Amino acid sequence: MALHQGALAILENNVGVSDAVLLDPMTEEAFLENLQTRFKHNQIYTYIGTVVVSVNPYQNLPLYTPDVIDEYRSRNIYELPPHIYAISDEAYRSMRDRNLDQCVIISGESGAGKTEASKVIMQYVAQVSGKGREIDRVKEQLLQSNPVLEAFGNAKTLRNDNSSRFGKYMDIEFDFKGDPIGGVITNYLLEKSRVASQTPGERNFHIFYQLLAGADSTLLESLKLSSKPDDYGFLNKSGCIKVDTIDDAANFNAVKVGMEVIGFYRDEISQVFQLIASVLKLGNVKFVHRSNPDGTDGCDINSGQEVSDVAQLLGCPAKDLTSALTQRTVEVKREKVKTDFSEEGATYARDALCKAIYSRLFSWLVERINDSIKVKHEQKTKVMGVLDIYGFEVFKTNNFEQFIINYCNEKLQQIFIELTLKEEQEEYIRESIEWIHVDYFNNAVICDLIEKNNVGILALLDEQCLLPGNVTDKTFLEKLNQKCKDHPHYESRALRKNQSDRTLPHDAFRLKHYAGSVTYKVDGFIDKNNDLLYRDLSQAMYACNHKLIRKLFPEGNPSQKSLKRPPTAGSQFKVSVQALMKNLLSKNPNYIRCVKPNDDKSAGVLDLDIVKHQVRYLGLMENIRVKRAGYAFRQVYAQFLYRYKMLADETWPSWSGDAVEGIKYIIANQGIPDDEIAFGKSKIFIRNPKTLFDLEGQRRE
Ligand code: ATP
Ligand code: MG
Repeated sequence: MALHQGALAILENNVGVSDAVLLDPMTEEAFLENLQTRFKHNQIYTYIGTVVVSVNPYQNLPLYTPDVIDEYRSRNIYELPPHIYAISDEAYRSMRDRNLDQCVIISGESGAGKTEASKVIMQYVAQVSGKGREIDRVKEQLLQSNPVLEAFGNAKTLRNDNSSRFGKYMDIEFDFKGDPIGGVITNYLLEKSRVASQTPGERNFHIFYQLLAGADSTLLESLKLSSKPDDYGFLNKSGCIKVDTIDDAANFNAVKVGMEVIGFYRDEISQVFQLIASVLKLGNVKFVHRSNPDGTDGCDINSGQEVSDVAQLLGCPAKDLTSALTQRTVEVKREKVKTDFSEEGATYARDALCKAIYSRLFSWLVERINDSIKVKHEQKTKVMGVLDIYGFEVFKTNNFEQFIINYCNEKLQQIFIELTLKEEQEEYIRESIEWIHVDYFNNAVICDLIEKNNVGILALLDEQCLLPGNVTDKTFLEKLNQKCKDHPHYESRALRKNQSDRTLPHDAFRLKHYAGSVTYKVDGFIDKNNDLLYRDLSQAMYACNHKLIRKLFPEGNPSQKSLKRPPTAGSQFKVSVQALMKNLLSKNPNYIRCVKPNDDKSAGVLDLDIVKHQVRYLGLMENIRVKRAGYAFRQVYAQFLYRYKMLADETWPSWSGDAVEGIKYIIANQGIPDDEIAFGKSKIFIRNPKTLFDLEGQRRE
């Protein structure tokens, strides 16, 4: 990307410094203060070189109107105040005009504004690209995928009223003219545990409430649903149903419209809602304990109505469903026998079924959308990808999910540093300037600790999951302690080096991530990684007449003899993360780092401690350091000369010689030391921001 050039809006008409690479002194404190100063003046965007740091304003600022888009259109990145539009424009143009596929990587913690940023990019691209019936249809479909996926994949959490509970990567594909002709969405790890239970104050996925609030009585009746969320066990336990900022009924209509625009058939839409209704109904199925004559525990269903409703919705005999919910088949000496679930066992199986139905439905929705938006005719396309994925997470208690999410962030950090350095290095080579070695923390060592074949934590976890017999989260931890004890980034209370560390619980391990240390409780690792569903349940689902549910449980097909174990959750995630990295590495990266200013979702408040924490987890200081390890500033000769020729004390209305010669004259005149400046093939490089500011000061005088 051609950066550090342009008309230097950066030094003018601006609050604070709009490119943090030019901060002087470059300290964390100065960086934070600068963000704060800018934020106070509603300047929510700040650059670090080509990276956009975005602070969530929690209010609607007049930043996204068509007029603003027009202003940023085809302008040089530094001509105007920092904006997501500026890098979107730069990315879009280098894709269209120079055939360089692009990706925009958006990161930040929950509520920082990632999803909003991704929509800002899509809106920009939609407005600046071509028009026409077919193109407009594609644009509309791409844009409508947002409300649909948000309905099924987002939820109200304590941190964010519209929190994405899945990771998303979307490739937008363009033809040779730069007009959108299709796209592909990839989804990552939906937080399916939310289907069955939520933290107090949080909600289930939006769609459940939307359906109950927005469906008309005919639809509700056909789904055998009441309109009251309170009637459903999966919705009434967290103490949160109505959210002030959310209009469920209106959103339901938007979802239906969205699905129609994307091209879902009526029949498919009904089937989707039937599955949502089935999950709600299954959540109300209760089990009561029964003592069997042989002394074992069993259970009965005490809410027959719910089961027969679900059986009707899915098209299967109620007794088959009852049996699959209360018993399972086990093989004893090559013979199949049914054993009863205990009450808890049945509840566990029921929840597992609901989570499976919901998460598979979600993946099906993504695939179905892809089917509609895919490029229709085989042709060469140019691509712009947008990654909206969970940022680094550190909670009071961290589980399997945080481990997986932080692994993904560790990988993203790895390619970030690699690509940032590569980009710098390439520019130096292009300009024939000597490369200055930059020391940086290479987090490959942590990535290896997690993902290395056979010896990494994910492999050790899989190994435990595949072992027959009594494996528990505890034996998994013991295995880790044994295999990772000497690793500098691994800690556990059982190890001598950590024995006296009381902050480290006995049932946990701690990883020193690039962004800081995180303690993971091993509780649930085995179970979540296994992610198994009893075969009786998948067979019962496959046996239904319902077209969609059958599709979602192909392994329930009894003719499918192979009992090969499905890949574990961890190994699936690893494969998809590796594919993602490969994809991102093949493109020119652009970064948006989102920051949440406070924990109360309030406008106009920036809490320095809260922001400092994120600045560390996002690795922003490291980013600035790498960016200015060599030369902090660079600019094309002609532009530089144009700006500073007035400093040449002589009467220079126009300089007729070589621009470089003119600049050399000015530099010498200002008494700037030689090693402060490097002259490249087309650009001047300045080592310290202070030199630039001195020149600016002189210019003003
Ligand atoms: P999560 O990881 O939970 O999905 P996120 O980073 O995607 O979080 P968003 O959903 O994008 O966060 O933003 C949270 C809320 O903050 C939005 O619903 C909106 O109210 C507000 N917000 C974010 N960005 C902006 C913006 N640029 N202008 C105004 N409000 C914003
Ligand atoms: Mg989001």
